[in-house]
Amino acid sequence: MAIKKNQLIKLSKASIDRSEIKAVTEVLKNEYLGMGSQVEKFEKLLSNYFNNYVSCVSSGTAALQLALQAHGIKEKDEVIVPSVTYVATFQAISGCGAIPIACDVTSDKLLINTEDLEKRISKKTKAIIPVHYSGDPCNLTILKKISKKYGLTLIEDSAHAFGSKYKGNILGSHKGTSCFSFDGIKNITSGEGGCVVTSSKKVDEYIKNSRSLGVIKDYELRYQNKRKWDFDVKYQGWRYHMSDIMAAIGIEQFKKKEKFFLKRKKLALNYDNLLKNYRKIIYFKRDYNQIVPHIYPIRVINFKNIKKLQIKLLDKGIQTGIHYLPNHKLSFYKNINNKIPYHNTNKLFNEIITLPLHYDLNFKQQKKIIDQLISSINEF
Ligand SMILES: *Cc1c(COP(=O)(O)O)cnc(C)c1O
Repeated sequence: MAIKKNQLIKLSKASIDRSEIKAVTEVLKNEYLGMGSQVEKFEKLLSNYFNNYVSCVSSGTAALQLALQAHGIKEKDEVIVPSVTYVATFQAISGCGAIPIACDVTSDKLLINTEDLEKRISKKTKAIIPVHYSGDPCNLTILKKISKKYGLTLIEDSAHAFGSKYKGNILGSHKGTSCFSFDGIKNITSGEGGCVVTSSKKVDEYIKNSRSLGVIKDYELRYQNKRKWDFDVKYQGWRYHMSDIMAAIGIEQFKKKEKFFLKRKKLALNYDNLLKNYRKIIYFKRDYNQIVPHIYPIRVINFKNIKKLQIKLLDKGIQTGIHYLPNHKLSFYKNINNKIPYHNTNKLFNEIITLPLHYDLNFKQQKKIIDQLISSINEF
C-alpha cells in the first residue's frame, strides 16, 4: 500500500512559519537580493552568540573549504578526517587540492578515534578535521594536545552541532576555527548556507575576501547594499558569499533556536526511554544538558539487513537514514588510504540506522516509529 505524502514521517525537515516568509518577502520587495545588510545583521547576531569572528557563506562545505585555505592548506597536504561524515567534509578537503586521510571512529559514539588518528599522521599531514557527529562534541582537549604536539591545524566540522556545548561552553565560542552549516535540515537553516567561526582576525579577514572572488574588503560597501568599483585581488577566491534572502531566513531561525533546541532534546530523551529495555538496540549515551541532538542514530547489534529494514519502515510510512556510508569506501577516495584497517567504521556502518528527528515530530509518532522498528527487526 502506498503511503500518502502527508502520512509519511520524515527523517528530517526544516520548520518554517510565517516569520521566515515575511522576512524573505521584505527582502524581495527591497529588490536587493545579494550579500547586503541582512548578511551583516545575521553575522552580528552569530558573532555575539559565539563571541568570535563570523563569516557567513553559501554552504557548510564552502565554510570548510575556505577555512582550510585560510589556514594555508594547499595541494598535496594531508588532512585527517573521520571516515564517518557527510562527503562534504571530504570534498572540502579535496576541493583545496589536499588529500583527505580517512581515520577510524569510536565504537560508542562514532566520533573521531584519536588513537587511530595519531597512527595516520605523516610528514605531509597539515590539519585535522574532527566532526561533532550527531551534535555530540569530540574530545577537544585531546585533539588540541595532538595538534599542538605535531604542529597541525585543527578545524572543527560543527555542521551537526549548532547549540551544543563542550565543557559548558557552546561549540564555536572557544579559541580556534569551527564551521557550521545552515542547510535545509540542520538545527537552524538559512535555506542553504553556513558560516566560519574563528578567534583569528586574520582567518576571518581572509574568508571575508575569498568568499567574494578575493575582492579585498568587498563586503564593506555591500553591507550598505552598495558596490565597490575600485578594488584589488591578491589571491584565488570563490563565489561563496551568503545572499540577503538566505540571511533573512537565518535571522528568523536564529530567534527560535532555543525552542528548536529544547524540542530536539525532549524528542531524543523520549527515544532513549522508549528504547531502554530493548536489548538488540544500542542508543548513543548523550548528555542533553550539554548537547543539542542533530540526528538520532541507533545501532542494531549484529544486524545485517539495514537496507532491507529501511525499505520495510518506509513501507510503513517511516523515513530513516544512514549516517554515513564510510567515505573510504567511495570510488573517489578509496585508493588514498588502506594500509591501516578501519576496524570500528567497517563493523558499525552495517548496523547503524538513523530515526526521524526534527522540530515538528511528536511523541505519538515516536511511539509508532519504535513499535514498527521493533516489529520489523523481529521479522528478520
Ligand atoms: C551538512 C554537513 C556538511 C556540509 O554542509 P552543507 O551546508 O550541506 O554544505 C558538512 N559536514 C557534515 C557532517 C554535515 O552534516
